[in-house]
Amino acid sequence: MAMICSFGKSMYSIVGHLTDTSQALSIAIPALQHVSQHRQLTPWATEAGGQLFGTLNAAQICVTEATGPYAGDGRSKYRYRSNPAAAQRAIEDRHKRGLLYLGEWHTHAEDEPSASGLDDAAMRRLIASSQLNSNALLMMIVGRAPSATGLAVWSVSSEAARRWILSTNLEET
Ligand SMILES: [Zn+2]
Repeated sequence: MAMICSFGKSMYSIVGHLTDTSQALSIAIPALQHVSQHRQLTPWATEAGGQLFGTLNAAQICVTEATGPYAGDGRSKYRYRSNPAAAQRAIEDRHKRGLLYLGEWHTHAEDEPSASGLDDAAMRRLIASSQLNSNALLMMIVGRAPSATGLAVWSVSSEAARRWILSTNLEET
């Protein structure tokens, strides 16, 4: 009874699952295209990032859109921080269109990304400081390798960070 997010005309997506829950994660092609165009493919590229949006229920998380980077972000080769005002505007604007704020993404200058201690700390701070409906947020890190290989996604709560097992999905539509 696998439920699949409906992404309209986009056929390919990346799907994920966790070992201990039946909730599924799907990331739509437009969101993947948005983040992958900011991959750090040159030695001098700085980290980019932004926010993730979509829908959420007990069965599935559907990431339909990614925003950022923004003017005024803090960016270096090994660090990214969204301009807080721009991120807030993105969240309010998507909210008006019925899209939930689901979490954050940023790039890493490595092929297959891993989370740094800094990333964990930043996510925990974000969860502690925000008044969210959910007690967990997605953290997506975009490495240099294409497709699911270069992608790492965690669900981060105040208690733990759980990594999603990702694979490429071809929807039969
Ligand atoms: Zn990072």
